[in-house]
Amino acid sequence: MRWSHAFVPTLRDDPAEAVAPSHRLLVRAGFIRQLMSGSYSLLPAAMRVRAKVMQIIREEINAIGGQEFLLPALHPAEIWRESGRWDVMGEEMFRLHDRKGAELALGMTHEEIFTTLALELRSYRDLPQLWYQIQTKFRDEPRPKSGVLRVREFTMKDSYTFDVDDAGLDVQFERHRVAYLNIFRRCGMDPVMVEASSGAMGGSGSVEFMVFSDSGEDEIVTCECGYAANLETATSVSAPVDDPVAATIEKFPTPGVRTIKALADFDSGAPADRQIKTLVYEIDGELSLVLLRGDHDLMEQKLRDHTGAASVEPASPEVIYESLGAAPGSLGAVGVDGLTVLADKALAGRRGLTTGANEDDFHLRNVDVERDITVDEWVDLRTVKPSDACIECGRPLRIDHAIEVGHIFKLGTKYAEILGATVLDADGNEAAIRMGSYGIGVERAIAAVVESSHDESGIVWPVTVAPYHVVVTVLRIQDEATRAAAEGLYEDLVAAGVEVILDDRDERPGVKFADAELVGVPFRLTVGPRGIENGTVELTVRATGVTTEIPLRETVSTVSDLLP
Ligand code: ATP
Ligand code: MG
Repeated sequence: MRWSHAFVPTLRDDPAEAVAPSHRLLVRAGFIRQLMSGSYSLLPAAMRVRAKVMQIIREEINAIGGQEFLLPALHPAEIWRESGRWDVMGEEMFRLHDRKGAELALGMTHEEIFTTLALELRSYRDLPQLWYQIQTKFRDEPRPKSGVLRVREFTMKDSYTFDVDDAGLDVQFERHRVAYLNIFRRCGMDPVMVEASSGAMGGSGSVEFMVFSDSGEDEIVTCECGYAANLETATSVSAPVDDPVAATIEKFPTPGVRTIKALADFDSGAPADRQIKTLVYEIDGELSLVLLRGDHDLMEQKLRDHTGAASVEPASPEVIYESLGAAPGSLGAVGVDGLTVLADKALAGRRGLTTGANEDDFHLRNVDVERDITVDEWVDLRTVKPSDACIECGRPLRIDHAIEVGHIFKLGTKYAEILGATVLDADGNEAAIRMGSYGIGVERAIAAVVESSHDESGIVWPVTVAPYHVVVTVLRIQDEATRAAAEGLYEDLVAAGVEVILDDRDERPGVKFADAELVGVPFRLTVGPRGIENGTVELTVRATGVTTEIPLRETVSTVSDLLP
């Protein structure tokens, strides 16, 4: 490719709206352009990177027995109704009608459609199967963000496994785990695997592949000992609090006190870790009280995971007033009946606590949780804090932002049972197929590579996924001998199978160097009149900035040795 004819629209300045480095650099370096919120055109340089990422994915998934499919992106509503996810997916699913009025959806994932194909599997002898596709997904994300990190239309590699028993599923899950690590490492990332929530997918085992980055929307909890979990599921040991001896409950006035902090600052109040935080939630429409230690925060995802509810929403102040007779800030669970009470495990055995009296401007002290509150369920519901200790080894935990680049789930028999995908097992009994589902966001992975590999001058592509291996930068295109040498070198590199772009533009060297660095080509060969006189060119390594002079004759072999 000749740069003079390439469409690589680099920009001198950062786009104003971009904060994440991958967003900023992919736009500036001419890889992506926004069409509308959460919707990007991929320009030719991005397509080259994407093709390489997809090739790596194909190689690794084929290596564990994957068979490639291509399923429609347009789905009939019925199949999503049958699985129960037409409602669960809510506003994230794009829905439309065809000319006959039939309801359709744009696929946000393909468990239902692959399971429909799996209905043709009849016997345990047909298993195991590993099916995958690389295809567009549509999700009407509430907050598209950070360039291609979170968009509404993206390419996903999604695979699905089908096994006759749990042991088979475990094998395929483990194979995917290893294949995913290979994929991300070959793309130049170093992901952490974390235990994760299964969310709307259902199922049990769930591992996410996370790349540390401040641009990531996920938060992950890690410990030196190797413990790693998504904050949505992470657990920890919080510093214990000594409680006083048992005493009888007392109601006392707390005029104007409406928050944990105000009660902690109040004269006869109590420190936050001696208070009970009472939250009111509508869980699938049913009112429930959620209790936590005053200084702990609820992790809503844990509430969703525990209840399995489709809708988990904080109750409105009106609903709360009607059911408990007080406003938020004066609520408590003492003496409440008729409502489900879910208490965080950190409250177990606690006494001498202060909580709202369900009467505005009054609180209760000396509350003994087990004596005074009818707790229906003890659940781990709180959000881990950085100061907490690791449940495995007791050392302090870290919480960092990260990008989820891949996710593997054990679905078990959920979809097979609902949609009737069974096989005859070795004993001739009908068995629901054990399924797994595994996803990688292709453009998100590309952005994550940029997040992990860039500097102030631009992107630093790992050779394995770079749009070009080499840029040949001609310093004085007007100089006949220089031009001829550069053209010759270009032809030789192409003939040797090197992916090369010849910067034959009539531009100042500074502009060409800046563009080569911004676009992030791993190796630059600079061809100038002085070098040509001596029979040399300069080789600059993008990642290190180190430049060496090499004989023109040896350039092709030197460069070939640097490539994978
Ligand atoms: P997130 O929590 O970030 O919304 P998810 O849990 O919804 O992700 P999955 O349904 O597991 O994601 O999809 C598999 C993979 O698809 C993710 O690991 C991610 O790489 C990618 N992905 C998901 N949503 C998006 C999106 N809106 N834009 C780009 N890639 C996405
Ligand atoms: Mg999502």
